[in-house]
Amino acid sequence: MKTLTFPAGGVHPPDSKHYTEHKPTEDAPLPRQAIVPLQQHIGAPCDPLVKVKETVCVGQRIGEPKGFVSAPIHAPISGTVSAVAERPHPIGREVRSIVIDSDGEDRWCEEIAETEDFLSLSPADLKAKILNAGIVGMGGATFPTHVKLSPPEEKPIDTLIVNGVECEPFLTADHRLMLEKPEDIVGGLEILMQVLSVKQGAIGIEKNKPDAIEVLTRATADKPHISVYPLKVKYPQGAEKQLIKAILGREVPSGGLPMDVGVVVQNVGTAASVFRAVRFGIPLIERITTVTGPGIAEPKNLRVRLGTPFSEIIECCGGLLGKAGKVISGGPMMGMAQYSLDVPVIKGTSGILVFRDEDLRLTDSNPCVRCGKCVTACPMQINPSLLGVYVEAGVMDELEVNRVLDCIECGSCAFICPAGRPLVHLLRYGKAEVLAQKKK
Ligand code: SF4
Ligand code: SF4
Repeated sequence: MKTLTFPAGGVHPPDSKHYTEHKPTEDAPLPRQAIVPLQQHIGAPCDPLVKVKETVCVGQRIGEPKGFVSAPIHAPISGTVSAVAERPHPIGREVRSIVIDSDGEDRWCEEIAETEDFLSLSPADLKAKILNAGIVGMGGATFPTHVKLSPPEEKPIDTLIVNGVECEPFLTADHRLMLEKPEDIVGGLEILMQVLSVKQGAIGIEKNKPDAIEVLTRATADKPHISVYPLKVKYPQGAEKQLIKAILGREVPSGGLPMDVGVVVQNVGTAASVFRAVRFGIPLIERITTVTGPGIAEPKNLRVRLGTPFSEIIECCGGLLGKAGKVISGGPMMGMAQYSLDVPVIKGTSGILVFRDEDLRLTDSNPCVRCGKCVTACPMQINPSLLGVYVEAGVMDELEVNRVLDCIECGSCAFICPAGRPLVHLLRYGKAEVLAQKKK
């Protein structure tokens, strides 16, 4: 089969997946205490539904969504609520959270119900189950899934793409899921297709995962409406716009969304969670997280209950090797640096990556040498060098016209820049300024 990719830009960082790609997923022990933030998705945070001293069971709804762009939160363990208060969050600040002291019993709620004949449900019923289970995009974006499944009438969808690219270096959680639970992914894909009434389903996987391509090709062999697409290894192949261009040849317009070209994209982890929610009634209370990097004693892929602190997860991987120089939630290209190991795993935590001091290539930021490498690397065909200079000089009027809002914050420009310019930080700041101006 032909190997597809996006035409413009992209970089080739070392994939560093050897730490965990061949390690089957293990179940992490239940946390002693789960810290469950009421904000685990893009959109409005939830309101707490429980009070201190209340007992909760696994799967119980404990956070009520506020507004359409929001998703409910469920108890990941059974036990007693010991606090509803601000706690550290991987986004870098404190967020109101429900703290549950485990009773160690893993008592599940009785109302969790299975649906055997789930494909006979109407699209509206399926969507309600997805919303009630608190499913959000698990590739890291955490956009509520039911919102993506509600395109306006004037934007008909004809294709559902399931994203198994996992182009971030080091991360292997999606890879292991594809090998270990292909039937969940395919089941979820069919549910998502039914919700959107689309006839064409696609699964995109980078060619550095030939075993996953083989497993999913086999799992879909008797489903002519679903095709598996091997993709060239090039970062950021898994970004939505680049994935759509590679598989369908369609160009999402500047400022537009996949739905503008008739497409919805969902991550493989999201598809599997949709299946578990609809078929077995299990809300989103756990996920696979890759715990990896040269600073981890025994790197692993772990199935982790949400709310488990990073410190307990690292402990379960043999602890740190020496002094941690940098801890990242997610991958090295788009992940977020962490300042505390007290932060919990949340719905979007695809990985915990630890570097030692000696692994870090700390270079000072130098003036731009006008080499043009960032321009060539940018998959969105914008000029990161120019935009960075505008941000530093405070020339905010030039940002929008030079398409700063099209930046997907992939980090390709910063990766390639020989001057060590903090281009992603500059562009992120520029985007926030432009959006704030627009809001005014
Ligand atoms: S971070 Fe933004 S500007 Fe830099 S390469 Fe990615 S899309 Fe282009
Ligand atoms: S890669 Fe760095 S040094 Fe080269 S043009 Fe871009 S910002 Fe300047």
